[in-house]
Amino acid sequence: MNTKHESDLVEAPEAVQADPQRPFVRVLFIAGGLAFLILQVMFFYGLAVAKQSRRPDVLLVTFDTLRADHCSACGYDRPTTRTLETLAAGGARFAVACAPMATTAPSHASMFTSRYPLSHGVLRNGFRLPDEAVTLAELLRDQGYSTAAFVSSFVLYHKFGLAQGFDVYDDDFSGAEGTQAQTGAWEGEAVPGRTVDRRADATTDAALKWLAAAAVEPEGRKRRPIFTWVHYMDPHEPYVPPESFGDPFGSARMTPGSLEQAIARYDTEIAFADAQLKRLVDAFDAAGRETEPLIIVTSDHGEAFCEHGWRGHGPQIYEEAVRIPLIVRWEGRIPPGRVIEAPVSLPDVAATVLDLIGVDAPRTDFDGESLAAALTKGVRLDDDRPHVFQRRLYERDGAVEPIPLREMDGATFGQSVEVRGVKFAIRSGRWKYYEAREERVARELYDLRADPGEQSNVAADHPDDVNRLSQMLNTWRRRQLAGLLQRPPQTVTSQDRAILESLGYTEPDDDDP
Ligand SMILES: [Zn+2]
Repeated sequence: MNTKHESDLVEAPEAVQADPQRPFVRVLFIAGGLAFLILQVMFFYGLAVAKQSRRPDVLLVTFDTLRADHCSACGYDRPTTRTLETLAAGGARFAVACAPMATTAPSHASMFTSRYPLSHGVLRNGFRLPDEAVTLAELLRDQGYSTAAFVSSFVLYHKFGLAQGFDVYDDDFSGAEGTQAQTGAWEGEAVPGRTVDRRADATTDAALKWLAAAAVEPEGRKRRPIFTWVHYMDPHEPYVPPESFGDPFGSARMTPGSLEQAIARYDTEIAFADAQLKRLVDAFDAAGRETEPLIIVTSDHGEAFCEHGWRGHGPQIYEEAVRIPLIVRWEGRIPPGRVIEAPVSLPDVAATVLDLIGVDAPRTDFDGESLAAALTKGVRLDDDRPHVFQRRLYERDGAVEPIPLREMDGATFGQSVEVRGVKFAIRSGRWKYYEAREERVARELYDLRADPGEQSNVAADHPDDVNRLSQMLNTWRRRQLAGLLQRPPQTVTSQDRAILESLGYTEPDDDDP
């Protein structure tokens, strides 16, 4: 069979050897081989470039302290978020999006690593995300993305580890007008400027300046895709919107120092930051690539206005402190106006972005799940998928006092929150169950369908659900602790040890001989 070809192959070297022009033939042979190799490299490089150039620019925006029900895009009656409304109309909105902790750095770390705070180890502001953490920015940079971040609070200063993966990390507020003047130190770190934050207009200016340079096409080839994270601090207290923005919700007519006035000013800060977001979105839309940009807007936590007696966020994980907007727009891929009802959480963000743009990642480390199929194809998500919440770490037990509203007549609202040990919650289906074993009310159960404001603790009426959810929480804690990135967190002080032990960071059995 096929002996003709076999003999050709066997005889061919003989023929070459007999050829008097052998050196010329060899050169031709080598040149041909080289040309073939070059063509092959060019082909595969071309495929890689084509794949990369089809990847969209990605804009990820986090509004600090933006509770979902104060966004007009999520049904609020004041027109606070016109830009978010437009983005949601052109893409998808999640009706129930959650933050795992009502604290800035831990929630952002969860969004970037797709892990819960208990496993990434940032249990309060000032803890550093360990270098071992793999972040969304690192994974996108590995895929050829040009990466840049523009943050607006010292809480996200690069020393705290969220700069991993960013070519540019702009956290310089020294020349900007801020809302919280502070000099000296914060959480043990020196504050370089006169303020610990900057307003959304200054952050947007910095991002647009970078984008203008990054969006330029190099001579004769496509530019790299861009990943930009922009963080706006404005809605965080103190509620002092810039005077130049006016008073769209009439706060000046309200009783000075009232809760009503504080909320109107909070809403005004949201509207101001949302107006800045429009500048950013317009610039991304105009940045000119063949693929439409992927835009994700969310928040790190909400804000309580005394629904459970306390104003602010840190010690609370009730709905007002953890429910956030999550809006994703990708024209041509996500149908306009889609609303997804199943609950989702910030650890889902990184998994979703990677999946949407077609990047394989080490998903075994992810606590979050990709929402890509729900976004693009309308695949129904599991309504009962559990989501876990954890109160930020406090150094010691005691009362967390109400925070006075600075520059607002010194008003203070609400009661203090008593913090004893750790507090977790788990949400699944209609239920949200809280467990704080060392507190006076150790177990709380709320029926979110009947009681979305969590005013009526029905734990005593539903012992089976309490036991089931408590077991789920315990199983989850064991799994989280098995996957710890650091043990214990590097920045922990001796004062924290007792609390860390109660969290499970150190196993008491390990110390026993
Ligand atoms: Zn925050």
